[in-house]
Amino acid sequence: MASAEVIAIGDELTSGVRLDTNSQWLAQQLVLLGVPVACHTTVGDEQGAIVAALADACRRADIVVVSGGLGPTADDLTRQALARLAGQPLVQDDQVLAHIRQLFARRGRPMPERNVIQAQFPAGSQPLANTHGTAPGIRLRVARTAEGWSDVFALPGVPAELKEMWANQVAPAILALLGPTRRVIAQRQLRCFGAGESEIEGLLPDLIQRGRDPTVGITASRATITLRITAVGETAQACRAKIEPTVATIRACLGTLVYGEGNDELQDAVSCLLADRGATLATVEWGTAGLVASALGEVPGIALYYRGGVVIRDYASLARLLDITVNTSRGQAGDPASLAARMAIAVCDRCEADYGLAVGPFPRVDPATTPPPQVHVAVARRGRVHVEPFVFAAHPDLQRTRCAKQALNLLRLTMLDQRLETTRRSE
Ligand code: ATP
Repeated sequence: MASAEVIAIGDELTSGVRLDTNSQWLAQQLVLLGVPVACHTTVGDEQGAIVAALADACRRADIVVVSGGLGPTADDLTRQALARLAGQPLVQDDQVLAHIRQLFARRGRPMPERNVIQAQFPAGSQPLANTHGTAPGIRLRVARTAEGWSDVFALPGVPAELKEMWANQVAPAILALLGPTRRVIAQRQLRCFGAGESEIEGLLPDLIQRGRDPTVGITASRATITLRITAVGETAQACRAKIEPTVATIRACLGTLVYGEGNDELQDAVSCLLADRGATLATVEWGTAGLVASALGEVPGIALYYRGGVVIRDYASLARLLDITVNTSRGQAGDPASLAARMAIAVCDRCEADYGLAVGPFPRVDPATTPPPQVHVAVARRGRVHVEPFVFAAHPDLQRTRCAKQALNLLRLTMLDQRLETTRRSE
């Protein structure tokens, strides 16, 4: 099976000024063509370093896709580096030069002499046309020391130009190179919440090992765990047939820890459940400062089911907005579980919603001396309420997001397993 590598060129990338989104996008496109990407390299605007990166990639991979460094300025060195790699001089292409002159003429400006270099290509390479920019790409075949060759496609760094040239020229060229040896790579993602990465791995029977077919990868982002199942086969159907039993095994092992697929977020799962039940929701948040409402607001069509939300900052706003008074005269805020329960019921009643979801306040704690803070989340429905405490030992920057996810997840689980029916009727 053909292999590929991606190289991004530019000081602005190595210095961290700009994020290298081209490599991410190119890798995704290569995988869609059935070519796995084994390595990404980012290199600054230094000719020797670019030649070395290109030579290393060509030694290892059949296809090398490069972005950046094709501009007209002295720090754009990709074409010179490709010429050095191939041991060939740069030769002018008059047709390309005419195109660049025309682009300048259309903008009503004379072409600076410096831009002539963009019409120069290593002898033996082919230009890749850039309809909208002055930086054409370069296709070059580089002989490998052992046997065969590596096909290099160098594209300009401007993402819009790179994407257009990929679609019109590079992807068709790679498909032609692959011919009948082409394989399909298919992926499916299961999204989980409610357990840590290692806990989830422990619940699965040896699925996450290298060399397995299909492979199962696990990644965590802000407490959401993604399981990515990848299969390689001759057809998409063959890949699906390989993936399906693994998905079934994961679902059987993880149960309700799996809340969705693809790029689903917890709010998408909640929205689907509300739609299934034809139910409405209202929220009140203290500790999460509106993150639950914000997440729900992103779901298309949520307006049908989401009646609205209240964001509380203190006891005074709690009294004013939800008529909940708490006696804090001796500095005591009362039982936080019962406060969360009252908030959920109050917002449910006020908004005449079927479900009320409440997030209580984060207690003030001293991280050095006290255990990590507990936040209470409550779900109310028809006068019944279910409350759960969650402990947040995460980094302070993550606490609110994790808490908002816990709240949405408790609502999801409550709707799924009817746990409200087994809990106390609120006083
Ligand atoms: P041009 O002549 O059009 O500038 P170029 O090939 O010289 O093309 P660069 O000068 O390297 O491209 O980059 C042009 C712009 O493209 C940069 O300012 C940056 O905005 C964007 N860019 C470059 N490389 C990347 C990358 N890897 N990911 C995202 N954006 C990039």
